[in-house]
Formats: sequence, C-alpha cells, structure tokens
Amino acid sequence: MEQNISQSTIEIIKKYDFVFQKKFGQNFLIDGRVLDKIIEAAGIGKEDCVLEIGPGIGTLTKRLAEEAGKVIAVEIDKKLIPILGDVLGGYDNVTLLNEDILKVDIGALVEEYNGGKPIKVVANLPYYITTPIIMGLFESHVPIDNITVMVQKEVAERMQTGPGSKDYGALSLAVQYYALPYIVANVPPNCFMPRPKVGSAVIRLTRHEEQPVVVKNERFLFQLIRASFNQRRKTLQNALHNMGELELSKEQIADALRKMGLSESVRGEKLTLEEFAQLSDLLLKES
Ligand code: SAM
Repeated sequence: MEQNISQSTIEIIKKYDFVFQKKFGQNFLIDGRVLDKIIEAAGIGKEDCVLEIGPGIGTLTKRLAEEAGKVIAVEIDKKLIPILGDVLGGYDNVTLLNEDILKVDIGALVEEYNGGKPIKVVANLPYYITTPIIMGLFESHVPIDNITVMVQKEVAERMQTGPGSKDYGALSLAVQYYALPYIVANVPPNCFMPRPKVGSAVIRLTRHEEQPVVVKNERFLFQLIRASFNQRRKTLQNALHNMGELELSKEQIADALRKMGLSESVRGEKLTLEEFAQLSDLLLKES
C-alpha cells in the first residue's frame, strides 16, 4: 500500500510540475499504515465533521472523506488547489478553502458546516506553526472533540510530559489545561516525501469535558506559566519577580509559596498544573 502512495505521489508531482515549498513545511505522507493509525486514533465516523489543516495533495483528505460525514480542508498553497480539485473530484463531502489557517475564523466554519457542534481536527501539520495552530484552536474556544495530528516527535513529547522532565514546560501545561494528550505512534522520516530532518509522532489531544483546574483569571495563569519557564534555570521566585509586567514582589511570591508548602527555592519545572492554578489564584488575590 505504501508503495502505491509513494508512486502516486511521485506521479502527481510530475504531472503538475509541483515544487515542494519548504517555507510551508511540505512533507507529504506516503505510508498507508500511518494514515490508518491517524484515522483510527481520531475515531472518525459518518456523523463527524472534520477540519483538515494543510491537505497537501489530498492523500489524507481522501481517507477522511471516505470515513467522515464532512471534511473542510484548509490549504495555504494556491499551487495545490487545482491538484486537490482533481484528486478530490469524486468526493462531494469535501469543502476546500485556499486560506492561511492562522487567519481563518474557525468558529464561523464550525457554525456554518456543523451547526456549532464539536468537530474533529486532523492534520499532518506544517511543523513551523504547530504551537500557534494548536494554541489558537484551544484559546479560541471553538467546539472541538479531539485534535489528532502529526507533529515533530520532540514537540509531542513536550505536550505529553509532566513535572520533573526536561521537556516539561509552558506547552505541556497549556495543552494539558485544555486536553488529555496521548502519543499514538512514532513516525520515522521515511514515511514522508521529502523526508523531514526530524522524527515525527501522531498525538491525539482529547478535549477535557470538564476543566481539570478552574482559576479566577485564565490569562494571569498563562502569564505566570510563561514567565516561570522563560527563565527556567532561575528559581520560580526570581523568574516571576524578574517579569516586570506581573508586578510581583519577592515577598508576595515567597508568601504564596509558603502557603502552598513549597520551598522558596523551587523551580517552575517542579510544579503541577494544579499547583500553578493555586499559585495563580493566591498571587492574583495579593496583587
Ligand atoms: N496533509 C498532507 C499530507 O499528509 O501529505 C500535507 C501535509 S504537509 C506536512 C503540511 C501542509 O500544510 C502543506 O500542504 C502546506 O502547504 C500546508 N500549510 C502550511 N502552512 C499552512 C497554513 N498557514 N495554512 C494552511 N495550510 C498550510
């Protein structure tokens, strides 16, 4: 099967004289087993409306169109649009949009194509904008059931890990605030054309039905998290104090840490999401 996808990819590229654009993170999937894993992990059925980010030459899009009720595919590269038009010609449940996903009003799409009901997001993401895409989807509070995406392996690990690991940071906390991450599979470079320089992984982020923590001010929580990891080798007290815009004195921070039973010399990388939430509420009250 992989052999076929690889051959048909080469044929399409030749037929349309397509030139891969590095700036768009174009590494097309050519392994059928990986496609199967993505579809299976996303749990797609006929009742689903799927948003695909970056359909490329439509390899994954075709599979999605066969399994889902509706597919909305958003592709930035205008050179791919006629190719996608041909490749997806036989599928009447696919809507193709030539747009930059970072500029699309996804909430309006969900309203228009799925009556505001939660959608599933599936993609082999362009790696250069992984974080803004994922965070944009979460922060805009668009109704989403799950996000199943191919990302750089290292980024998948950062999303899934907890306190104490060197990979733990602002991205781990932000993702886990909104969703439950699960790494579905590691994917080597030879599953793509052209081969990326980095390893990849498929990760599923299942949106929490209920937030694991509730804070008084979400924006403040994320400011605090970002400040803590901006200077990750510093103690939490210094990192937060040094972030002038938070206007936190060392005494305020020490006092909050004491109330939480944490040492004054603790670093941000030791705190769980629950502890960050608690700290956020304590400092907000005192500031
Ligand atoms: N889905 C295809 C596959 O699996 O073979 C292609 C995946 S490729 C890694 C990423 C795709 O995202 C490319 O088609 C690229 O042109 C597209 N892309 C890059 N930046 C984008 C953006 N800002 N908005 C929409 N699509 C984008």
